[in-house]
Amino acid sequence: MDLTKKDKRHVIHPWSDLGSDAEPMVIESGKGVHVFDSDGNRYLDSISGMWCVNLGYGNEEMAKAISDQCVQLAYYTPFGAMASPPSIQLAHELSQLTPGDLNFFQFTNSGSTAVESAIRFVHYYFNCLGQPEKKHIIYRENAYHGSTYLTASLNGKKCDRSYFNYITDIVHSTSDPNPYKKPEGMSIEDFCDLRVRELKDKILEIGPDKVACFIAEPVMGSGGVIVPPPGYHKKTLDVCREYDVLYISDEVVTAFGRLGHYFASEDVFGIVPDIITVAKGITSGYQPLGAAIISDKLVNRISGESASENSYYTNGFTYSGHPVTCAAALKYLEIMKREKINDHVLEVGSHFMKRLKTLKEFPIVGDVRGVCLMACVECVVSDNEEENIAVAQRVDEHCQAKGLIVRPYENLCILSPPLIIDKAGADQIVDILRDSIIS
Ligand code: PLP
Repeated sequence: MDLTKKDKRHVIHPWSDLGSDAEPMVIESGKGVHVFDSDGNRYLDSISGMWCVNLGYGNEEMAKAISDQCVQLAYYTPFGAMASPPSIQLAHELSQLTPGDLNFFQFTNSGSTAVESAIRFVHYYFNCLGQPEKKHIIYRENAYHGSTYLTASLNGKKCDRSYFNYITDIVHSTSDPNPYKKPEGMSIEDFCDLRVRELKDKILEIGPDKVACFIAEPVMGSGGVIVPPPGYHKKTLDVCREYDVLYISDEVVTAFGRLGHYFASEDVFGIVPDIITVAKGITSGYQPLGAAIISDKLVNRISGESASENSYYTNGFTYSGHPVTCAAALKYLEIMKREKINDHVLEVGSHFMKRLKTLKEFPIVGDVRGVCLMACVECVVSDNEEENIAVAQRVDEHCQAKGLIVRPYENLCILSPPLIIDKAGADQIVDILRDSIIS
């Protein structure tokens, strides 16, 4: 049996149609910004695998750091009072980069488990403070926060919610702040205030004494690269502060260089949240690692002399702080700093966005939006959703035939190339997209 047949026979893929006859595309290798399929075709990977492979493929320094750590110590339990050096060193180095007093790290093995751990911490926190009724979580339409049962219950994409009975008693959605969908004639400032007021109203409707946290991606990724209006982050944080609602910034996509900074919350949007969740780019996708990053203020309020009786923190995983994953993250941070990846992203990213926006001239392009190397092209030909999706799919297929992988989602083509891409590579993405839109 060849690989594609074995795959179809045995492998259940995330977000796939179980009954589909579609042949999988088997990616066998990668070098730099390119990947190669099992037929030897080369593609410019404009999605970094899945918002992850920031340094591109085949980085030998990363491979060596991983291999060296495997030989030194492949694994040891992180439970209780046991530790291994890479996770300690990584927590220390990250604490030099995180905003404000976000200095505690609960390592996990994915973005979903990072978000799940953040919420478990929030529930534990309010239980410790004697406020057990403070359990409710507010998320936004079109959000994506993961695929465990709890985190999937916080996904605001309608298409992700069919055929599962998600948690409904403690989760609530509020509208997303997509300026492209703002009511006609409304100013961007009024639109921002409307969305902020809706969050406030939602808190008041549930009851501030019941709302534990608000979770938001700084720029919504999978839901369509939604960049909120100026001031939105600060105003939503102010609302949360007013009602003692904790703010979780889900930076699984936006941290570690994608927007030209280590963390987008503070450096791009000027806020210091209570908790930040990360994964993906933290190791450049070379190892599976995530983290819930929690403020000193929160941890100190419920630990040490302030600890409640029997408040043992029973949350964590076999692979929390896995030495090999942490060694990969340490090496990635070293390379990021040495190669000035953030500066590079700011320069190439602004060039990329400028060029990408020229695609707006085509009638099938409704919107082009993004920040730096996180972008999307929205195809709109009519009010009919199906028609718009079909157009985006056609553009996607043409791109692939021309050697470019983009990420199709509904009527969007989502782009997040490796951070090492140069201006010529960025131009190539735009040129192929342009040709694909025309053809
Ligand atoms: N949070 C955000 C913002 C994400 O984009 C994702 C994945 O795309 C997740 C959480 C879940 O991460 P993972 O797939 O590693 O569990």
